[in-house]
Amino acid sequence: MNTIITKFGGSSLADANQFRKVKDIIYSNDARKYVIPSAPGKRDSKDSKVTDLLYLCHAHVAAGIALDDVFNHIRQRYSDIINDLKLDFSIEDQLNTIKKDLEAGASSDYAASRGEYLNGLILAKYLDFEFVDAKDVIVFKKDGSLDNEATNCALHNRLSNVSKAVIPGFYGADKSGNIVTFSRGGSDVTGALVAASINANLYENWTDVSGFLMADPRIVENPKPISKITYSELRELSYMGASVLHEDAIFPVRKAGIPINIKNTNRPQDEGTFIVQDEDDSIKPTTITGIAGKKDFTVISITKAMMNSELGFCRKLLSILEQHKISFENMPSGIDTVCLVISDSELKNKHQVVLEEIQNICNPDSIEVHPNMAMIATVGRGMAKQTGTAAKIFTALSNAEVNIRMIDQGSSEMNILVGIENDDFEKCIISIYNAFN
Ligand code: ASP
Repeated sequence: MNTIITKFGGSSLADANQFRKVKDIIYSNDARKYVIPSAPGKRDSKDSKVTDLLYLCHAHVAAGIALDDVFNHIRQRYSDIINDLKLDFSIEDQLNTIKKDLEAGASSDYAASRGEYLNGLILAKYLDFEFVDAKDVIVFKKDGSLDNEATNCALHNRLSNVSKAVIPGFYGADKSGNIVTFSRGGSDVTGALVAASINANLYENWTDVSGFLMADPRIVENPKPISKITYSELRELSYMGASVLHEDAIFPVRKAGIPINIKNTNRPQDEGTFIVQDEDDSIKPTTITGIAGKKDFTVISITKAMMNSELGFCRKLLSILEQHKISFENMPSGIDTVCLVISDSELKNKHQVVLEEIQNICNPDSIEVHPNMAMIATVGRGMAKQTGTAAKIFTALSNAEVNIRMIDQGSSEMNILVGIENDDFEKCIISIYNAFN
């Protein structure tokens, strides 16, 4: 019998109406056995996520301010859901304990985790599924990192006798019982861990979009949906800013060979996007799968005659960045030139000192700095076998009068990266998209 893990994001469980949709989805397929809920998200654009309100409660206590107003707001969110669903169920005791714990100075991880905990209790009751507290099955080490082996073992043991369960996302506990959370959006990770531990057939990630689109809909009008994407392509696109899934959610399921299906709770009839193994043979090579990009980079271009034969040049250059704890995005090079592409959020105010050290330690003939740059990645698994892809991209950009400042094709031959001015960002994405559609 197939087993499907379903994870529902905050917008999918923001109010009673969304809970009803979730129940219909779960009940429509008996294979949907284990459910991972997030905390209630925003009901509309002006609303707050319960997780944010819980962090706020923690901040109030730390600043010596009473948390009653914010906490009552949280209490109301949950009681609205319970009342509207006409559940014969109360979480008053749990709410009172949480309030007391917060007032006594409980950690911010504990505070944030309670959103998923309470939502999990309600959902388990509503679905008539068993509630499995994530603190018993998601195990963290003392240093705050996940204990993969212990988690896998705990999940496997706990779920082997449970046919249907709700396991709240986002948190777990260390061996002393202290609650620890993943980083924001971490319920995706819980879902992936549960899927991997029981070797599920499919990990469904339910959200408020019908999967990935070929480009950002705020830039391209009505971009085509992506029906299948490989894990490697997804990694390239999400690295360049296209994000629907938490980064750490990919690894456990990828390793276990479990596909992910991104689905829309508000349009369950849509197929969504399947994320599959690179070697999946059901997947046709497409020239272009998606386009994504990020703004605000600085490109430092270094020239030195005979650079190619100077032993240790790049090592010296990169150790300057390492010493200043700056990670670089990309490093295209020529015979006598090398460029460092660095995000402005990494470079911050270290700009001047880095340039001085490059000058003193590497002794180049010239250093040029190009600020306000954007990087655009065009990703497609079929690119390697297709002639003319790069030509098509560059012709489109030339027709749109976009000045390309840098070009890089990763060794995976699945990604062509162009560096352009920030001001040309939108124009660049639109012209590449149009060239292939
Ligand atoms: N509720 C948490 C957050 O808002 C975790 C999640 O939704 O995945 O980040």
